[in-house]
Amino acid sequence: MIVDTGAIRAFLDDRHIALAERVAEFSTRVLAPLPEPADDAAARQQARDLLGKLGAAGWFAPIRDQDWRACCLIREALGATSPLADAVFALQALGVVPMLLTENESVRKRWVEPAIQGHAMASFAMTEPDAGSDVASLGTTAVRAGDAYVLTGTKTLISNAGLADFYTVFATTDPAKRDKGIGCFVVPADTPGLTFVRPLRLSSPHPLGEIAFHDARVPKSCRLDAEGQGFTLGLATLDRLRATVGAAACGMGSRALADALAHAKTRRQFGKPLSDFQLIQQKLARMATDLIAARLLVYRAAWEKDRGAPRVTLEAAMAKAFATEAAQRIVDDAVQMRRIVCTVRYARCASMKERPKSSSSSLRGSSSSENRLDRRRAGSIVLRDSDEEGRSRLRNHDPRTQPAGRHIRIRCRLFGCDAEQSRRR
Ligand SMILES: Cc1cc2nc3c(=O)[nH]c(=O)nc-3n(C[C@H](O)[C@H](O)[C@H](O)COP(=O)(O)OP(=O)(O)OC[C@H]3O[C@@H](n4cnc5c(N)ncnc54)[C@H](O)[C@@H]3O)c2cc1C
Repeated sequence: MIVDTGAIRAFLDDRHIALAERVAEFSTRVLAPLPEPADDAAARQQARDLLGKLGAAGWFAPIRDQDWRACCLIREALGATSPLADAVFALQALGVVPMLLTENESVRKRWVEPAIQGHAMASFAMTEPDAGSDVASLGTTAVRAGDAYVLTGTKTLISNAGLADFYTVFATTDPAKRDKGIGCFVVPADTPGLTFVRPLRLSSPHPLGEIAFHDARVPKSCRLDAEGQGFTLGLATLDRLRATVGAAACGMGSRALADALAHAKTRRQFGKPLSDFQLIQQKLARMATDLIAARLLVYRAAWEKDRGAPRVTLEAAMAKAFATEAAQRIVDDAVQMRRIVCTVRYARCASMKERPKSSSSSLRGSSSSENRLDRRRAGSIVLRDSDEEGRSRLRNHDPRTQPAGRHIRIRCRLFGCDAEQSRRR
């Protein structure tokens, strides 16, 4: 898997080009050979292993450095190769960024470096049974008791629930104040009163679940925000990471496109390869165009933030909305073209791990339809058919044999040419 830096070169520095090559090599060598986890327990085990591998390779460092373009490049490569590895990366970022945006030195010292080294797994606990998009209506309470806060309530749809070493938790100190009453607390997983209620199983590997706080006491030094700033801190975190969600979706889309393209070149019907049919060429060209447009939006948003824009709410929301929709269109087209025989993780999943953009951005109108689809597709889906040969082809899928993103672009443009000609170009 090679992350095509050509199309987005204008938004990258030289160090990003080198990083893209390194992460592509890592993804191919370390991630691609990993087996698909058979069940939730295996996915949890693999997620922990991936944490160590990603940390040891230094892939979490751009989170600490707040290099959002680097984070996008990493998520694009991980999304294309191992969506589970991408989820592990995303959660380290979601758990750690609130610490980076505040001045709490003791919490930073305790958790940031271990998380960046891959020694401590993070989680981000905002969603509740009765508070999803409407974060201001959180029901988990944090009551001040001397030098501590006592947390009570339930969090659901939490990635890394039951697996994480610490949870970055949003709770209200005064429900009447709505968003102004929300605080942000870092809660170690072994805190008495914090329990793992149950896993929530998706059709593809992603550790998810419910946790509960029953009078869980944390020292007041675990609070990250200045009184009443927790809501703003949560949104500022999501704002920074939103473009990276789009990047992961681009990775998933590019994998699906590469797969479809390879199939169209080799599958013969009516006496010639599918790729000789104009309708297939048009479909592939549209997929490639969608992908490049999505990537341009993603890297433009990350670049704006890297060069010091105080807010990229609009840019990042556009990037995420377009990229997740584009990835879904690409995957849908690839599914049709390939009589699909594979397990496809939807880019939709990436879109749902965060707040729907409707809750915080000016893209409210477009996001509502997106999230209606989100619900229906429940984060990820498994597509199956009875073609066992095809399935094992996918199990043995080797991204090294897949065309790189740059080649995809060239080949689509020159679709009438044979593979040799397009490679020579
Ligand atoms: C795979 C996965 C991983 C997740 N990981 C985490 C995690 O680690 N931490 C965490 O805190 N949460 C996590 N979530 C939860 C996710 O952030 C929520 O699902 C999301 O915030 C939406 O909340 P909800 O599901 O309750 O939907 P609701 O808020 O009930 O919304 C339902 C639908 O109504 C739409 N809607 C809501 N308000 C409006 C409005 N004002 N205008 C128009 N439409 C609107 C929404 O867009 C959506 O389509 C995860 C979810 C998934 C699927």
